[in-house]
Amino acid sequence: MKPGISLLGAKEIREIAASLDLIPSKGLGQNFVHDANTCEKIVRLADLKDSDHVVEIGPGLGSLTLALLRTGARVTAVEIDKRLAARLPETLRDHGAPKDSFKVITADALQLECGEVPAGSLLVANLPYNVSVPVILHILAMKRIDRAVVMVQSEVASRLAAKPGSKDYGVPSAKVAWFADASIADRVSAKVFWPVPRVDSSLLTLHTHQPLGEESDQEMTFKVIDAAFNQRRKMLRSSLETLINHYLPHQSSAEVLELSGIEATERAESIDIKGFLAIAKTLLRR
Ligand code: SAM
Repeated sequence: MKPGISLLGAKEIREIAASLDLIPSKGLGQNFVHDANTCEKIVRLADLKDSDHVVEIGPGLGSLTLALLRTGARVTAVEIDKRLAARLPETLRDHGAPKDSFKVITADALQLECGEVPAGSLLVANLPYNVSVPVILHILAMKRIDRAVVMVQSEVASRLAAKPGSKDYGVPSAKVAWFADASIADRVSAKVFWPVPRVDSSLLTLHTHQPLGEESDQEMTFKVIDAAFNQRRKMLRSSLETLINHYLPHQSSAEVLELSGIEATERAESIDIKGFLAIAKTLLRR
């Protein structure tokens, strides 16, 4: 813990925003946390050591960044809004953060490159709601992250953490399961944000696991997932017919599913990530 680092309060957050003439952008999901207890709760959940390196997507005005830096961890913060990214180093230094403890990258997180993320990093972020799922998948796909604690809309958290057989299970749940085990840790009231969003948020934890296969397996598995959920009410022998026919034109979809150890009459919602992988491997003839 670095006691010299102080957190941002609600009043100061408004003052920094006013000094930048900032009108929070809905398009960029700019709902800033103005409650220091919430930032501390996120950081406790992340269970950081001072040797940790954290990637924070969307640091905004810096409230979570300061709570992260207070643990002694180093932070790479990726912010798309140029005004916020330009102001952040000043805010962090004013609050006692050592200059060499953070790096601010002005960029779209979806364009972030692997080289910016040291192996074994953690992802800790209050994510912009409109890109939360693609950002999570993009960062996980780098295979540099051990753990993540992210704040997302509660509905998105439920979808990401859903297991086969549940109504929320779908493309995001299956794809995230390729990389990590996801679970919901807590619900967060909309009141901790400025401006107050219309929906509640939740904290989601992700623990990454060993890759289930090679890059080509992942690509094909994701194609199978997309096709299967594109017609989620249909049996797999119908929903996957076009895809299977494309790769194995001489076999029926029922045969391919049987070869993969999957019942042709099952629907996407009951198949776990290993089942989707088994189908992908048959399509890749491995
Ligand atoms: N972390 C801050 C907090 O908790 O108060 C701000 C969180 S706010 C929900 C989301 C932040 O992500 C905003 O600062 C927004 O400008 C930024 N953002 C939006 N889209 C982004 C993207 N594609 N890449 C990086 N940052 C993005």
